[in-house]
Amino acid sequence: MSATSGYAISWLRDGFLEVLQTAFRLFPWPTEAGLRSVGRPDASSPVLLTGNYDLTVRRLIRALKGCDVWLVVAPSGGINVWCAAAGGHLTTHQVVTALKTSGVADKVDHRRVILPQLAATGVLGLDVFRRSRWRVRFGPVSMIDLPAYLAAEEKTDSMRRVQFSLSDRLQMAVMWAAPAAVLLGGISLWVEPAWAIPLTLLAIAMSIGVFTLYDRLGNARRWILMATSVALAVGITVVAGGDAAAIIAAVAAPVILTAALTFDYTGSTPLEGGSHFEERKWNIVLDKDRCEGVFRCWEVCPEACFEKLEDQRKVELQHDERCIRCGACVVQCPKDALFFEDSDGARIEPEVIRRFKLNLLGERKVDAG
Ligand code: SF4
Ligand code: SF4
Repeated sequence: MSATSGYAISWLRDGFLEVLQTAFRLFPWPTEAGLRSVGRPDASSPVLLTGNYDLTVRRLIRALKGCDVWLVVAPSGGINVWCAAAGGHLTTHQVVTALKTSGVADKVDHRRVILPQLAATGVLGLDVFRRSRWRVRFGPVSMIDLPAYLAAEEKTDSMRRVQFSLSDRLQMAVMWAAPAAVLLGGISLWVEPAWAIPLTLLAIAMSIGVFTLYDRLGNARRWILMATSVALAVGITVVAGGDAAAIIAAVAAPVILTAALTFDYTGSTPLEGGSHFEERKWNIVLDKDRCEGVFRCWEVCPEACFEKLEDQRKVELQHDERCIRCGACVVQCPKDALFFEDSDGARIEPEVIRRFKLNLLGERKVDAG
């Protein structure tokens, strides 16, 4: 086999794997943890750390083309960084262990590590320093911004806010459409093969609709989505001459898909504002007397809710209406100046947010120690 055909086969294999992983991103895709070099790093090169989610690691290495860095891949259960950190799979312990066992300390003459900003819900920067002497900085939200961040050594406003571009939204749509289509198509083939193609198309259309339009539809969006989808599915079924069983399926499938697609899991989607979880009713509160202007909250908030008051060495919670209750600011604040409070004045203390992470139902019950 010539070098050219070998390269073509590996390019095709990587492309196929990337499509497959994008379509089935709901499932873990672990890659080997450990130390990797990108470019030609030396003793003074930056050290980055990410989780062992294969898709992220491969995209990250591509995004870092032209940079010379050390990349520590920490075990995160093969899950992407934001979900892994929010769900207790990428924690302070995993990061400290990876820094101590990967051999990176022998490669560099400094102890500074850059984590993805979205790891801030699960990894306590101060504890990493206490336990390993490595200083943590939280880099940009998007890996695309890493080369500019590394060059400037600071984050711009756009680098610290989750944007959900059209490309991100379409990838999320594909990630839901693929398993939904496989499930609905499979059940149809078993029950009534004639339904397989319409139900698969319905799953794809609803996934795209939800991730591109849903959050722009106002408060009644769940009902608007469900009513529109049921009306269209029933209308098309009747026009196509479907029988009573087909009409029942045309009602049931959109209702089930609406419930599944708009279930806001851990809030790391553009569907923010889901009402499933108690915690979403709590508000983020800043105790300004405790704040000493460390600006960790400003660095990690994915919705850029905070503004710096540099002259007073304080922050202001200027955009609390954007808060998605991710808890990153609460976890990182060294002064316990941030906490969640409900309208009756009851609190969730910072220690609870630091220790307990979210399960798949959005309940803060996963003990991350
Ligand atoms: S709220 Fe906490 S993290 Fe934010 S600036 Fe004040 S002390 Fe620092
Ligand atoms: S203000 Fe809200 S969105 Fe921002 S880091 Fe804190 S909890 Fe998360």
